[in-house]
Amino acid sequence: MPILGAAEAELILHGGKIVTVDKQFSIREAVAVAGGRIVAVGDNETVLKLKGPTTQTIDLGGKMVLPGLIDSHSHPTGASVTEFDHPLPEFETIQDVLDHIKARTKVVKEGEWIVLRQVFITRLREQRYPTRAELDRVAPKHPVLYSTGPDASVNSLALKLAGIDRNFKMPPGEPGFAERDPQTGEPTGILRRCTNLLKAKSTEKEPTEADYMERLPMLFRDYNSVGLTTIGDRDTTSTEVARYAKLRDAGALTVRIAALLGVPYTGEIGEIQGKIREVARHPLFKDRSGLVRVIGMKTYLDGGMLTGSAYMSKPWGVSKIYAITDPAYRGVLFIPHDRLLAMVRTAVECDLQFSAHTVGDGAVQAFLDVYEEVNKTTPIRGTRPCMSHSNFMSRESVERCARLGVCPDMQPAWLYLDTRTLVEHFGYDRLRHFQPLRSLFEAGAIAGGGSDHMQKIGSLRSNNPYDPFLGMWTAITRKAKWYDGQLHPEEALTREQAIRFYTWNNAYLLRLDAEVGSLEPGKRADLVVLNTDLLTCFVDDIRKTQVLKTYLDAD
Ligand SMILES: [Zn+2]
Repeated sequence: MPILGAAEAELILHGGKIVTVDKQFSIREAVAVAGGRIVAVGDNETVLKLKGPTTQTIDLGGKMVLPGLIDSHSHPTGASVTEFDHPLPEFETIQDVLDHIKARTKVVKEGEWIVLRQVFITRLREQRYPTRAELDRVAPKHPVLYSTGPDASVNSLALKLAGIDRNFKMPPGEPGFAERDPQTGEPTGILRRCTNLLKAKSTEKEPTEADYMERLPMLFRDYNSVGLTTIGDRDTTSTEVARYAKLRDAGALTVRIAALLGVPYTGEIGEIQGKIREVARHPLFKDRSGLVRVIGMKTYLDGGMLTGSAYMSKPWGVSKIYAITDPAYRGVLFIPHDRLLAMVRTAVECDLQFSAHTVGDGAVQAFLDVYEEVNKTTPIRGTRPCMSHSNFMSRESVERCARLGVCPDMQPAWLYLDTRTLVEHFGYDRLRHFQPLRSLFEAGAIAGGGSDHMQKIGSLRSNNPYDPFLGMWTAITRKAKWYDGQLHPEEALTREQAIRFYTWNNAYLLRLDAEVGSLEPGKRADLVVLNTDLLTCFVDDIRKTQVLKTYLDAD
């Protein structure tokens, strides 16, 4: 076994099942750490030779060790303060939603906004939006915004304040629209990607800098408790990155962060390109040594599958669930081809990772067309070009990802939470390439697992749940909540692939593969000790896995 240097190890874990996630997926007995880096992995006898008088040795008693787990898609800043003003209950039914809004009318002054964000209709028992009439009934004197992804359901007072009535026309250049009753022409209260017109101002108290500095470490410790040692923040600001750096300097940052700065897609293209170039000038983009790094930029290409606006290659179909009335409606594509082309080209020229929220198969195709075109003149693979979510794909898109080196970051917990509704709406067959993980792996594309965690602290109560073992279990079983059977089990990952999905693949996708993602000499000593043997346990025990110890740089 290769041993780096002859120095005495600070820490040796031995007598375990060390899953290295190296190229061969080797499994060893022991690992030694010095100076925060792995210095040896091998059999007990060889590694224990590095033991000196001050070495801490831990007998693992046969337990499994993995590289620190990585979530390639989260939004920690917002998530850490979701419940800063008031706690949010679990929303399982429309009644839960209405009860909560009614309770808020007692606290919020009449005439002021009640805003509820990211309660996904696909995950409600009734699988639909609360209607304008229902919202009116519980909150007649408050404008109400029930928003989910880029879409929303609002009450009559909210429509009135925004001037959205039967004669309303969208301002030019805005990609969204207001759904209308086909009989009366009246707005139904469902808004597609145009909640900005409402100018809803929440009355909730705003967290201060000190509040963020207190709550973010709470969230990061919770990430550690489920084995996460690295995350990708997919849409952040330079202020937030500066805050992460401040936490790092105070010794309070317990995860590595690869940050993608948000870039707008509307406005003058020259200005947008200026913003992209600004990202590349961020000092933490070139400095690739520390816990906090900037790796690229993020924007949004289409709507969502949880809300009925993902841009599909075929019409969505008239739908009660998603409140869709137009049979030809295919969803909303936010960025036209030429604009996206200019944006991607600028990012690639700056060596930035480009990433866009891309959910529908139509959007996936449009995005790959642009990547393909840019790739003809400027090779894109080295930037680890990313496609966030990439839920609906075609066989052809899978192969193009592999060929171009485009890396989808994907969220198995959505399959777990949303399959019931998606099957009901689209039918089983149209979901053949929904999160086609096995196909991506077999084609040679590098896809990474994540959560898109955006609300609340708590790995299973959060929205979206960030427990990586739930993610692995879902990717392996393709089983889902409130759903019998499996969703296209031919797309299930093997256990080995599921481990790669949350370790090495994500390290590659976050441009950190030289540092983390596998347990090999020279890499950072980010590792986790588990109570479960993920390779041999009963499959349903995978999601119940507990992390016994998480090391970041072996601290
Ligand atoms: Zn996201």
